[in-house]
Amino acid sequence: MKRFDFDVAVIGGGSGGYAAARTAASAGLKTVVIEGGAEVGGLCILRGCMPTKALLYAAEVKHLAEHAATWGVRAGKVTFDFAKVMARKSAQIKDFADFRGQQLNAGKFKFIRAHARFLDAHTVEVTPIQGRARHSVRAVVGQTRGGAQGTDAPYQLTAKNFIIATGSRVAASPLPQLDKVGFITSDEAVALKQLPKSLIILGGGAIACEFAQFFARFGVNVTLIQRSEHILKEFDADAGIEIEKVFRREGIQVFTNTKLLDARHKGKLKSVSFGQNGKTISVSAEEILFALGRVPNTASLNLENAGVKTENGRIVTNHKMQTNAPHIFAAGDCTGRHEIVHIAIQQGETAVHNITKPKSPRRMDYRLLISVVFTEPQVAFVGLTEKEAAVRGIKFFAASYPFNDHGKSLIMEAKDGFVKLLAHPQSGEILGGACVGPDGGELIHEIVTAMAKRMTVHELAAMPHYHPTLAEIWTYPAEELAEKIAEAH
Ligand SMILES: Cc1cc2nc3c(=O)[nH]c(=O)nc-3n(C[C@H](O)[C@H](O)[C@H](O)COP(=O)(O)OP(=O)(O)OC[C@H]3O[C@@H](n4cnc5c(N)ncnc54)[C@H](O)[C@@H]3O)c2cc1C
Repeated sequence: MKRFDFDVAVIGGGSGGYAAARTAASAGLKTVVIEGGAEVGGLCILRGCMPTKALLYAAEVKHLAEHAATWGVRAGKVTFDFAKVMARKSAQIKDFADFRGQQLNAGKFKFIRAHARFLDAHTVEVTPIQGRARHSVRAVVGQTRGGAQGTDAPYQLTAKNFIIATGSRVAASPLPQLDKVGFITSDEAVALKQLPKSLIILGGGAIACEFAQFFARFGVNVTLIQRSEHILKEFDADAGIEIEKVFRREGIQVFTNTKLLDARHKGKLKSVSFGQNGKTISVSAEEILFALGRVPNTASLNLENAGVKTENGRIVTNHKMQTNAPHIFAAGDCTGRHEIVHIAIQQGETAVHNITKPKSPRRMDYRLLISVVFTEPQVAFVGLTEKEAAVRGIKFFAASYPFNDHGKSLIMEAKDGFVKLLAHPQSGEILGGACVGPDGGELIHEIVTAMAKRMTVHELAAMPHYHPTLAEIWTYPAEELAEKIAEAH
């Protein structure tokens, strides 16, 4: 029988890769993680979820202080120190990244700082990151095979199974003119030393919207340009419309239904032209933030050497997270579709389960797909949206309730947004929920729990809710739907 260096080699040490490695090591598999980034931590910790949420929270505190008079509180003239805002964010990110580094180096599995690419279906070439080759080849694979020990020279490593978790990278720009003019991406935006006076944001997804509000609340003149009819197009239009309203009220210029035409320098500024309703519009700003999406980071893996199928760069897997090569699995952003941390983690764990227990396979279930945008109000959904129900021909009843008619949100002066429930028209089972409102990302979890247990709107309406809480708002659409279902039968 062929001997391999490892039972499982995980390529990429971000959220998906770490979850896979931890699970594999706990299952007793001889595991290695190969991480090729200049820093350890993965996208979520270093440049994604955590820095953006730290910055957005600072913006929220500033906004609340500016509006303190609403509650009779005098906060005086609210000023800020941008260097300190960024320093707090950086200190927190360092703590999170250090902790992840400790977890990766805890000795439960081998952790090596190197770039990996496939030579064949069971072998990768491992190129240590310059100056990071703290391991010797012998220490990693137990024998010398190519490359001098303790140097940065590439060497080979074999594994019985692989889990690819190499994440995503910023998509290429759609206009060559944009590349010439230059722009920043979210990577640079979370590390700015100084605020631009004005900013054009290209895109209307979660990342674009979160940055739009962050910058606007820190006094930057923000223009957001979105191709679709509304921002946040993965949500139902009612959510995008509500956030557009809030953004405009906060001074953000929002253009939707546009087509990018050109980008050029205009004096010291950068200018972008786009078509909208048959007209050409030009806007200028000090900087452009490119937020038109990310693509799977798979190009340098030489997947063709392992015979692994991709589709527009996305690693194709089945619901067991298995690729067409049965011993190679994938997890996280490199599989495309859902660029969400907890999904990357679940996929990594699912892959390991299916390596260790192929006879009782586990499948990814996206019935409870959650999405959250951390604007204020936050935007969140779980399960089915009206849009998706229409595409899939699923029948449902829907009911909404606004936060401007709810006790706790009125106390908080948080009057924007609504909650919405989708229910099966006969059984009343909750099929989906949406919340655009205060702490929407927290509130949605009540519906996640209800849906996980396949609760009906009748059961949700009958469940006790403390008064006055934001959470009790869910009982109104639940009651309305329960009545609607009763009337229909
Ligand atoms: C600005 C921003 C905000 C976000 N906010 C949220 C949020 O609030 N909530 C949420 O759920 N998601 C959010 N996301 C998405 C989330 O960060 C990603 O879905 C998640 O981090 C993906 O994890 P991953 O393990 O697939 O990839 P990553 O964490 O990117 O890990 C991939 C790792 O693979 C390594 N690698 C790549 N190629 C190789 C190779 N050939 N050899 C060795 N190593 C390699 C990389 O160095 C990297 O460390 C956000 C993303 C961005 C950009």
